[in-house]
Amino acid sequence: MAEYGDALSAPFWEAATRHELIVQRCGACGHHQFYPRPYCLECQSDDVAWVVVAGGGTIYAQTTVHIQIAPECMPPYTAALVDLDEGPRLLTNIVGGETQIGDRVRLMWRERNDEPPLPIFAPDSSAS
Ligand code: ZN
Repeated sequence: MAEYGDALSAPFWEAATRHELIVQRCGACGHHQFYPRPYCLECQSDDVAWVVVAGGGTIYAQTTVHIQIAPECMPPYTAALVDLDEGPRLLTNIVGGETQIGDRVRLMWRERNDEPPLPIFAPDSSAS
């Protein structure tokens, strides 16, 4: 696949084609961050490297979208902010069932034509 994204985000999209969700981890202080930056937001170190996250998260906020905004997203659908267990907050979609704020979710992927898959989330049935 041709390179997708800019120099900072290209590794993210390259990993997405392997269904790996990666975020940056600071080698100096251990802070995880997303979106990628050239330095750590916590300690300003430039010792940031990509790591694969486990794929678990918690819904921080969500809303049901009834208006078509993007051609690949047919309403109604659930847009949500998900806090990854590693810390970063992701704007994403929830699929596969009703959810509420605070629910546990797990990573899935939405395949797209001619573009890398998008990380989305579904209710984590193993969580209680
Ligand atoms: Zn740091």
